[in-house]
Amino acid sequence: MEKLEGKPLRTLVNVAQLLKEPVGSIQSHDISGIIEEEVEGSIEGKIKLIRTNRGVLAQGKLTVEVNLICSRCLDPFLSPIGFTVEEEFLPTVDVPSGLARSLSEESEGFTIDVDNILDLGELIRQYTLLNLPMKPLCRPDCTGIKEAN
Ligand SMILES: [Zn+2]
Repeated sequence: MEKLEGKPLRTLVNVAQLLKEPVGSIQSHDISGIIEEEVEGSIEGKIKLIRTNRGVLAQGKLTVEVNLICSRCLDPFLSPIGFTVEEEFLPTVDVPSGLARSLSEESEGFTIDVDNILDLGELIRQYTLLNLPMKPLCRPDCTGIKEAN
């Protein structure tokens, strides 16, 4: 495996200010860093946070460079995967536990916690996993495991 260099990705964004702004307000965030979860890799891109009437819409284009294992020759290789994200984050209603009810409870969506912190980590993780190739190849014409002489 190639050693990844760089800072861990920061994924927590405080949207308290954005939530006070009128619908349609936009905050831009540069995304850059290293992810080390089910998949390891580096990530680059921009995410726009847009105030909606219900919460905050995260929209952006990301490129993740992940360490994959070639499905033919089993060699590790780095592969860039580009994708766009679009998900709405809904605020959690701060009520005593037991009576807890979040606006987004009916749909298992993304939430903004009671401290107005929005976590892009889960969004990035889900989209990365969704966009991983089923049968990664180190190159299109990979001939597979070399026969030992
Ligand atoms: Zn290969």
